[in-house]
Amino acid sequence: MEKYYFECQNCKQTYPYGNVTVCDKCGGIVTIKYTEDYLRRADAVKDQQEEKSIWNYAYALPEIHKENIVSFREGGTPLVKSREIARILHMNQLYLKDETKNPTGSFKDRAISVCVSAAKEMGCNGIVAASSGNGGAATSAYGVKGNFPTIVFVPESTPQGKIAQAITYGGKIIKVKGNFSKSFQAAKQLAKEREYMNVSTTFMNPWGIEGYKTLSYEMFDSLGKVPDVVIVPVGDGPILYGVYKGFMELKKMGKADRIPKLVCAQAKGCSPISNAWIEGRKVKACENPHTIASAISDPLEGYEEDGNLTVRTIHKTNGYACALSDKEIIEAGRLLACQEGIYVEPSSAVAIAALIQLKNKEIIGENDVCVCVLTGHGLKDSNAYISDSSELPVIHTIDEIPEEYLV
Ligand SMILES: *Cc1c(COP(=O)(O)O)cnc(C)c1O
Ligand SMILES: [Zn+2]
Repeated sequence: MEKYYFECQNCKQTYPYGNVTVCDKCGGIVTIKYTEDYLRRADAVKDQQEEKSIWNYAYALPEIHKENIVSFREGGTPLVKSREIARILHMNQLYLKDETKNPTGSFKDRAISVCVSAAKEMGCNGIVAASSGNGGAATSAYGVKGNFPTIVFVPESTPQGKIAQAITYGGKIIKVKGNFSKSFQAAKQLAKEREYMNVSTTFMNPWGIEGYKTLSYEMFDSLGKVPDVVIVPVGDGPILYGVYKGFMELKKMGKADRIPKLVCAQAKGCSPISNAWIEGRKVKACENPHTIASAISDPLEGYEEDGNLTVRTIHKTNGYACALSDKEIIEAGRLLACQEGIYVEPSSAVAIAALIQLKNKEIIGENDVCVCVLTGHGLKDSNAYISDSSELPVIHTIDEIPEEYLV
């Protein structure tokens, strides 16, 4: 048997390792499976690099020659023990996984570094992605660094601010008419026609999940144990699936004794996955997404099956799902910034809003070891917390400072 191969999550069909993104037989989602021998050899090959990064866990990834690894030292992010929010919520072991410290400012770097490196190893002709946000910035940065022709398709309506970062890294950004599905279609077609790797961070990207699973390896190593609960912001769910896969592998290796409960945090204005979990039914696409948490506003239209896989995964961990209002999300983001000094985008603050809700409902207990994954930097979405600065005082000299500012 091969050391690793693809397995369809739907019909269990297997495929040899290669540039596979979907099950040929049933169209299902494929993920990379490792043999137990491959995973169990981990400690023998563990190669401590000087710099902390996801590549400390190369032993648990498909084999990639050192010269093909495209890295900006992504991962190895701090697991901060919360003092202030823990005190406010009466929790003894609350941790914040600070993914804002990644090179392009979000956890998507983990996925894209693995994808682009795998593309080099397999000799793909280029890199293509559909994204309007964090995935696009990461794709541009890593694709260009990997010397690949790098194309990012964005929906025509994407605001300039969101694509500025991607443009600056040097990739070719192309606007596609229509909604996100049209951009994704374009990425799929171009990947097929030109033998590019499609690195869009969806379930059709098994390497992305491999990158995300390093979150679990890091949490486990930092804590020295399995946390009780991990809260992740979810759009489609590859992040949640990646965290699940990581802990399952640690269990297979004989390191972890169990897996944590996973909490899916979504925004009320677009929460097809949380609603399906809460109401105990199949996922229905969100018809009119409307939330400030743009990076997780994924209506799942036309790929509801992705959402169902995420719901099944939450159940497998005995976890929870919540839907939070924009008001709760913004308040959580402010609390995190002023109490812990971590400035995140609303799509990440949703994890703290979920924590507050679950602690108040006593679903999370005072002594639970709980980790919130803070997925992306606040600077990426700086208009979210204050859209308008025209209300601020404007002065000539300090004599004009309003009285209430000085108390
Ligand atoms: C992409 C993203 C997520 C959600 O990831 P999915 O894997 O699509 O569920 C969460 N937060 C931020 C900031 C993101 O960019
Ligand atoms: Zn299948």
